[in-house]
Amino acid sequence: MEIITVPKKNIVLDATVFSTVMGCPRESDFRFNLHLQPISGKSNSLECGSIVHKFLEVYYGTIIQGIPKSQAFGFGITAAELYIKGCPHCTDFKSTPKIPKPTCGHKIDDYPGVKNTPKESEIKPYPKTGWAWVLDTCQQYTEFYRNDFWVPLETERVKGKILYEDDEIRILWKAKIDWRVDTNNGIYPVDHKTMKQNRDTVSLNNQFIGQCLVEGTRSMIINKVGFQILVKPEEKFKRIMMSYSAERLLEWQSETLPYYAKLLLMYQETGHFPPNFDHCEGKYGNCKFVHVCESDPGMRESEIKKLFYVGTEWNPVNDDD
Ligand SMILES: [Zn+2]
Repeated sequence: MEIITVPKKNIVLDATVFSTVMGCPRESDFRFNLHLQPISGKSNSLECGSIVHKFLEVYYGTIIQGIPKSQAFGFGITAAELYIKGCPHCTDFKSTPKIPKPTCGHKIDDYPGVKNTPKESEIKPYPKTGWAWVLDTCQQYTEFYRNDFWVPLETERVKGKILYEDDEIRILWKAKIDWRVDTNNGIYPVDHKTMKQNRDTVSLNNQFIGQCLVEGTRSMIINKVGFQILVKPEEKFKRIMMSYSAERLLEWQSETLPYYAKLLLMYQETGHFPPNFDHCEGKYGNCKFVHVCESDPGMRESEIKKLFYVGTEWNPVNDDD
């Protein structure tokens, strides 16, 4: 019998937080402890991805409710257009005793409007995908999959599961499942991924592994949506099955996950989040915090104030990957 029990530490993680901790502890401090958000808004790639996510969420969500595909398309496009324009009721909504929830019925900041996505695509000063093309791509997608026999079961659901526990810690993993489908060969989680050019997908991915573990499957599906202009539909709309062996999933769950969770706990307890200079340049451009880290230690706070604002607390529903 234990006489003195040490309270176990509960750690809540999702793939975005976990991958950021793996990549750069200082970035995870900026984003998830200080809640810093760039004043300039999300990148054009992220915004275009969010428009498509919103379209697919509402399109498949409407089909799940029994509405025919042809009508569901209209609901999806209307939601995508509202995402582009921004809903004045729920954007930056602050709850008061009189009005506790946005009157539009949306979740807070669910339709924020776009800042870095013009209507028409631009090439200079750097390439941007326009929202008109993004909406066109949604139409091409539904056209391409018009005879799709996959049965949609759920959209945009956050699921939590305890994936690890020992004497010191307990880890609750939260996974956002974009879409759950019955493919006729089984029920799988699907992750929508938008891209400007096709690249091979690597299976060493915390998000994909977490989705399998939370759903109790050994496979998940990536639903690729490409924004290329001169590419045939069958090359930009692809569904790729990502499969893992039981051994790989177990290794991640019992070794990789607790190792980085304990590192994060140590950073929190010491208050020291070291930078990782190997993480400053990414495939989608530089880290948003490059200018902060490049300034002198005493100047970083004022640099932060120039470029960032303090946003709402991180929530795994945000699709920021
Ligand atoms: Zn709203």
